Amino acid sequence: MSSRTPLIAGNWKMHKGVADTSAFIEALLQSGPWEAVDVVVCPPFTSLAQAAMLLTDAGAGLGAQNVHWEETGAFTGEVSAAMLTELGVQWAIVGHSERRTLFGETDQTTLKRAACGQRADLTVICCVGETLAEREAGQTFTVLDRQIDGLEALDPGKLVLAYEPVWAIGTGRTATTEQAQEAHAFLRRRLERAFGPAAADALRILYGGSLKPSNAHELLAQPDVDGGLIGGASLDVDSFSAIIRAAADCAAGD
Ligand code: PEP
Repeated sequence: MSSRTPLIAGNWKMHKGVADTSAFIEALLQSGPWEAVDVVVCPPFTSLAQAAMLLTDAGAGLGAQNVHWEETGAFTGEVSAAMLTELGVQWAIVGHSERRTLFGETDQTTLKRAACGQRADLTVICCVGETLAEREAGQTFTVLDRQIDGLEALDPGKLVLAYEPVWAIGTGRTATTEQAQEAHAFLRRRLERAFGPAAADALRILYGGSLKPSNAHELLAQPDVDGGLIGGASLDVDSFSAIIRAAADCAAGD
């Protein structure tokens, strides 16, 4: 882990209504405050208002799982950045592989969502990652390169990248520390070209894909792994808190 403050973000996907969100956040806050780790939870849209109320001044951030690229309009089922910031949301995930594979989102729509979120002052967590077929065909870096093409139009100060190999998401299969570090180092070099060395050095790149307490320390200890975007293991307070502790230990050099 480097001088970048680690970020541990929980992506709850389509889990936890208002009551479960309250119970989780109340329990989570008892394990804080966290030193030298930024913590963010991303509940479903319908739980954001409740989460915002509980998280005000509580030391953890609140994120949405998506944001639309227009400020307003006839976009059934979508949510705008202003609707999110009005609730107190500070973060938004864009380009998650489930959005790409199940809902037809593309590199272009991901960038548009990211730009619109940033204009409203959201910090965006932009997800990239190759499928198993792409990795096995030796295309990992070509895919990552394509997915972040155009990223230079974004504000690096309000950007976090998440490397999430699709084959590791929700599968129990995790990238090895070597695979994760190799991909993160590649992405950082690519960020250098987009934003220059200082901004690329400050920008956090999260790993996501079956990150859990038992593998958190070794992954988070990699020099270019600056935290995690966590799905399944973020749904349980004890496992999410254990991952936060692993990040804090890595930051402290333990
Ligand atoms: C994710 O959905 O971003 C994710 C990494 O999920 P999981 O931790 O369950 O693999």
